[in-house]
Amino acid sequence: VSRIEGQNSICIDLALIHHPVCNRVGEIIGSAVTNLDLHDIARAGRTFGVDTYSVVTPYEDQVVLVQEILDHWLTGYGASRNPDRKEALSIVDIRRDFDEVLDAATEKWGVRPTVLATCARLRPDTLQYEQARQRLEQGEPMLLLFGTAWGLAPEILSRVDGTLPPVLGHGTYNHLSVRSAVSIILDRLLGNRD
Ligand code: SAM
Repeated sequence: VSRIEGQNSICIDLALIHHPVCNRVGEIIGSAVTNLDLHDIARAGRTFGVDTYSVVTPYEDQVVLVQEILDHWLTGYGASRNPDRKEALSIVDIRRDFDEVLDAATEKWGVRPTVLATCARLRPDTLQYEQARQRLEQGEPMLLLFGTAWGLAPEILSRVDGTLPPVLGHGTYNHLSVRSAVSIILDRLLGNRD
């Protein structure tokens, strides 16, 4: 597996999927990118050593919107005012679909990454965090998929190698924002345990 010079040995990317995702009644929809998801997930990703955070949307108007926001923070006024935010958003790229993300990661690492979904409900293909963490620490490239709306569409879930266990609290209420879920999951996978 190729290594990025100066990068720690963990090879991990994440993707936020805006299509295909489910709505409340299970129909396949596309969701809009939110500025909150862009910033918060980039900051969490950079903090935990994620190499690339792919914002996945097929909608040209959304691509233009995301690029404008990135331009502001990477080369515009925001870049000069807040270099830390520039560093976080520097891991972001924009992709049209899951296949494009997978192809880019495979080319970057020199091998197809293990693709893991995340979901608020327990799925039969669960891979425990400790197992995933060990495989990451052995240098196995991984790509984590996060959904929007009411979660990743079945056509995405059917293509992954496993699903990380849902983040569960107490009782039946379980409606985390994807931003919160990303931070918790990255900490479980990569957080400092000292
Ligand atoms: N009910 C949806 C589901 O079952 O995934 C939650 C949708 S939430 C707004 C969007 C994304 O955040 C999910 O696709 C998943 O990636 C992540 N997410 C939300 N809650 C989660 C949880 N409790 N455990 C793991 N991931 C979660």
